[in-house]
Amino acid sequence: MKILVLPGDGIGPEIMKEAVKVLDKVAKKYSLDLEMEYGLVGGASIDAHGVPLRDEVLNLAKESEAVLLGAVGGPKWEGLDYSVRPERALLTLRKELGLFANLRPAKVYGPLVDASTLKRDVIEGTDIMVIRELTGGLYFGTPKGVERLESGEERGVNTLVYTTGEIERIARVAFDVAGKRSKRVTSVDKANVLEATELWRRVVTEVHGDYPDIELSHMYVDNCAMQLVRYPRQFDVILTENTFGDILSDEAAMLTGSIGMLPSASLGGKGGMYEPIHGSAPDIAGRDMANPIAMILSVAMMLRYSFDRGECGDDIENAVGSVLENGYRTRDISQPGMKSVGCKEMGEAISKEVGA
Ligand code: NAD
Repeated sequence: MKILVLPGDGIGPEIMKEAVKVLDKVAKKYSLDLEMEYGLVGGASIDAHGVPLRDEVLNLAKESEAVLLGAVGGPKWEGLDYSVRPERALLTLRKELGLFANLRPAKVYGPLVDASTLKRDVIEGTDIMVIRELTGGLYFGTPKGVERLESGEERGVNTLVYTTGEIERIARVAFDVAGKRSKRVTSVDKANVLEATELWRRVVTEVHGDYPDIELSHMYVDNCAMQLVRYPRQFDVILTENTFGDILSDEAAMLTGSIGMLPSASLGGKGGMYEPIHGSAPDIAGRDMANPIAMILSVAMMLRYSFDRGECGDDIENAVGSVLENGYRTRDISQPGMKSVGCKEMGEAISKEVGA
């Protein structure tokens, strides 16, 4: 298993250390053959080399089967031009690795059910995977821009565009992922109004023909936004285009209560990149206060999706569940009357549980 580890900035190195601890434990337990390289990314790379991502690191990423990324950015680099800011490294990695599918799970852990803003009986048992198309649609379509009309008014344009090939490849990711879960896909579109998403619905339905064991349903995006807060347990995999996915994945994330709990995967033709959905949290960096769980669950996703070792992913997820059950809480998920632990202690507890 060839893995490139990019801890990044802020809390990145702290949470990555705990995630690697857990990965090492799993590797020992299941006799996995790990080959890990480390690299600098984001602000750390700017400080050392003047650029957020060196070609050398990009090439290492291309040669690896998976990339584990902590987080990038921080106030120190905020004054820089957009073209050399830490976040540019992420965009370059996604583009160069051809990562067109973004997977964001939103799973509610029983012991944390009261951390959500929604009622216990609505969210209990929720376990959703949002699959968002990442490189097409409204964010990339042309024509785009703002122009001045002869009348003196301005006119802003963005274009929602998808080809059959782009839809087909993301649909296959969704059906493959559903095959490793509860085998249900809800494809979300606005086919009653937008032609491009009418094509989306048609192509997804055609691709579904190759996956007879997966159940497919279609839903309009406005209804989906409503159903997510009304009855989230009805969903397993939600498949959708870029803009709808951007919005729905944030909505789904909030069901679970804390940003420190949520991992993500970006997949493409080759390899994958795995990272927490949160940023570098400069306000708590270096103080042993970060929640390492999103990073640790990103490792679980990597084992499942890049290496097809779902049993190792399950083991990590179960260990996280048990540790929460045993009352361990970092400050962000702590509830009144509970003792909170630091990043290191949480990582150690999970790693111990995996080794058990
Ligand atoms: P953030 O996600 O870093 O932090 C938001 C809030 O959540 C903060 O109060 C932080 O302390 C808390 N938080 C985040 N992760 C946590 C964790 N694991 N445990 C406990 N608390 C946690 O977002 P921000 O403050 O808007 O951004 C900070 C920096 O991160 C910026 O430079 C931003 O550009 C960058 N950023 C990077 C990524 C990425 O690397 N993928 C994503 C988002 C933001």
